[in-house]
Amino acid sequence: MSGVYRQLSALFDLFFPPACPVCLSSLSSSADPFCSACSATIVPLPTGRCSCCALPFPNANSSRHLCVDCCRQAPSFSAVFAAGLYEGALKNALHRFKYSAIVDLDRPLAGLLQNALPPLSGNEIILPVPLHPRRLRRRSYNQSLLLARVLAHNLQIELDSSILERVVDSLSQQGLGAQQRASNLRGAFQCTRRLDGETFLLIDDVMTTGATVAVCSQALLDAGAGQVLVGAVARAPRHQL
Ligand SMILES: [Zn+2]
Ligand SMILES: [Zn+2]
Repeated sequence: MSGVYRQLSALFDLFFPPACPVCLSSLSSSADPFCSACSATIVPLPTGRCSCCALPFPNANSSRHLCVDCCRQAPSFSAVFAAGLYEGALKNALHRFKYSAIVDLDRPLAGLLQNALPPLSGNEIILPVPLHPRRLRRRSYNQSLLLARVLAHNLQIELDSSILERVVDSLSQQGLGAQQRASNLRGAFQCTRRLDGETFLLIDDVMTTGATVAVCSQALLDAGAGQVLVGAVARAPRHQL
């Protein structure tokens, strides 16, 4: 950032103090995504979590290993990275981002997710979980695409949101169990072209049971992807359906 830009930015902040996007109290710096009170409610994923799907274990301090479901059947994705648990300010901000069209939250939320990602080679291709065109028309934006755009820009990796499309507008996943979610999504996503062993970083706003990202990852692998990593801003424990 140039000196002039920094000075102008400081002056702008003086006259138009930045506000916390969750509680609207003023922020001490526009570089902070949330105020200190809201930031304090963001709970990082516990050490005790599944080494593949990042499911938090009841004992937060237990060692990292595969959860029962991932042991029983290896998921189609290789690993899940998330900024924190789906609670507190993160839950509140994601809700406003998704349902109240507070699209300015794309940068702070993508910034939190970026901090949770592993080092990348730069050869990955980033893509969002797609929305069905009908739902996209109703909402007017795909919240996961907004996050993927910011991440692609910050990380300087390729974004391709045309590879995967949602061809079935399934029922809402809310309130469904893991089994029902998986069957509800069968055949919902398809790839638009053959792939050639690439590594994909699939972006979602919230990962609940993982059924959606699992079905998307499987569609990518079936089309020839090498591996799929998943990045979600928040990870819900499975009992929070
Ligand atoms: Zn706040
Ligand atoms: Zn797992």
